[in-house]
Amino acid sequence: MSTQPTTKARVWIDEGGLVACDKHGGRYLAAAIAAHPRKREHITPRSHWIRYDEGDIPCETCYPMHIG
Ligand SMILES: [Zn+2]
Repeated sequence: MSTQPTTKARVWIDEGGLVACDKHGGRYLAAAIAAHPRKREHITPRSHWIRYDEGDIPCETCYPMHIG
């Protein structure tokens, strides 16, 4: 049994390589998701987010230990 933390939640990856879940992508991303829940790509005033559904990249804020 794996002890690695995983997240069932989809994550978003921005242009700078930041990985964030719905909650940790910031208010712009949250608003974009709320407005267009089925879109796989969101362009906000601060960044450009692409949805990543594979499930093996956890949100950096939820799982900071996994950075680096
Ligand atoms: Zn998170």
